[in-house]
Amino acid sequence: MAKYDNNFTDLLRERLSIYDVVSKYVPLVKKGQNYWGCCPFHNEKTPSFSVNEEKGFFHCFGCAKHGDIISFVMEYKHMDFKAAITELAEMAGLPLPTMHKKTQQQIDAEESYYSIVGAAQKIFAEKLFSSDGAHGLAYIRNRGFSDDMIKKYGIGYAPKNNIISNKYVNTKQDKLIATGLVRRGEYGTYDFFRDKLMFPIFNANGKIVAFSGRSLDGSEPKYINTSDTELFHKRQTLFGFNFAREAIHRANRAIIVEGQIDAIQMQCNGFGETVAPLGTALTEDHIAMICKSNRNIIFCFDGDTAGQKAAARACGLVMPFIRDNSDVKFAFITGGKDPDEILRKQNGRALMEKIINDATPLVDFLWQIINTNFLTKTPAGRARAEKFLKQELDKIQDKTLKSEYEHEYDNRKFQNWYKWKKDEKSADVAVPEIDTVIKNTLVYIINKFPEISERYGDFLNKFNLDLDTDVKSDLNLDFKQSERYIISLKLQKYIENLEQQKRDLTIQGLTNGSDVGQEIRRIDQEISRMKSKQDLLVND
Ligand SMILES: [Zn+2]
Repeated sequence: MAKYDNNFTDLLRERLSIYDVVSKYVPLVKKGQNYWGCCPFHNEKTPSFSVNEEKGFFHCFGCAKHGDIISFVMEYKHMDFKAAITELAEMAGLPLPTMHKKTQQQIDAEESYYSIVGAAQKIFAEKLFSSDGAHGLAYIRNRGFSDDMIKKYGIGYAPKNNIISNKYVNTKQDKLIATGLVRRGEYGTYDFFRDKLMFPIFNANGKIVAFSGRSLDGSEPKYINTSDTELFHKRQTLFGFNFAREAIHRANRAIIVEGQIDAIQMQCNGFGETVAPLGTALTEDHIAMICKSNRNIIFCFDGDTAGQKAAARACGLVMPFIRDNSDVKFAFITGGKDPDEILRKQNGRALMEKIINDATPLVDFLWQIINTNFLTKTPAGRARAEKFLKQELDKIQDKTLKSEYEHEYDNRKFQNWYKWKKDEKSADVAVPEIDTVIKNTLVYIINKFPEISERYGDFLNKFNLDLDTDVKSDLNLDFKQSERYIISLKLQKYIENLEQQKRDLTIQGLTNGSDVGQEIRRIDQEISRMKSKQDLLVND
């Protein structure tokens, strides 16, 4: 926690009347010496919450909450000490005192960065509604953004010309460059964001610190963000957190989605408690930020392989943060690409609600990860799975909780890995069909190269191979050939699956006349992409 010397907190108490601070949020009426209102910290209809102006304290006779302006702001706005002090200092019109031994020069510099970034946002916001920004405005409206949403999130447009460098032509170049908005080139400075749809990035206190710009001409990458600056540290900033903080407290949980448009759509469609990391990677700092106020987290990832991978990563990151009262879950988008697409469907909100409600608890998700990534049918595979599991469980801080997890998994291992489960095996219908020759080849490869079986465990596990068969093979595949064999089989099965989907869709289109053309074209594209991969493999 940042340390402010007592003089500054005293100064705040002196400058701000507790009546002014509290009455901003709670209606108060003067009766006798004190002011009275309905307590914001417990549910009541008749006022038992009193504010004593002279002593600078509030006290509730109902729930016994008691404190001064600082604890009031912390409690009421669910802020940490530092954020509350910042808020109160702003209210009092006092500059924040030096902390972390920041020099006055640094503070001044920061202030000027804030003001440049803030001014830039105003320019971009205006440009969005000018003729320059018409295509940007059309794009964002087409993605289901109302003008209210555009305004709330401060969305704007950065034109092609160097509007920021030109406006600040008389400002010191270093200062401009330090905001990340401007870069230095061979022929002077130029704007980093050009012809981009601009999403401001706010810090936890609601101040704009950076931007994320979306390309509008189809060029890659789709999003570019301000690189890290004095004000902005990507690894420690969650998109939408400033808007979500209240809702996280009310909903008693946080939802983390992958993209910022997803976060905005979620927040505007009844899931105010949603945030997103910037760029793809979630960090420990992000999770720590959320856990400061709430340890109930729902990670919501896209349903594709990349989403599964990202979820597994998040699972590893969240382990040190779980406690006996935290509820961590993993939800995967089905029936659409991402939350944005789901929410814009008819009944989107209900669909999303269902996805969230069906989320997999951490204990089950970790078990899934283990069973898809390790070939638990072999002793070597189980040994690797055990080591991985131990490594994950060792991250749990609470010893009792850790030992409960261990018991849980011991039980599951016994039930699923060792117990005779022949009946269940034969009941499995999701097994892709392969003939005996292929089966034998796979068994041969797995026995010869255990590393390959680990790498493709999730795929190989699908076949219920009997690894005890003594396979006499004339094949003499080396490591590379074996790997290529599996990759090519995987591609083949994937293509077969796509072709089946296509047939199903065609029938669907014929029977109920629904418009499946677009979806079929997407599948066709995917099939031809996969086929060219196959060709590459053969000619490699
Ligand atoms: Zn109370």
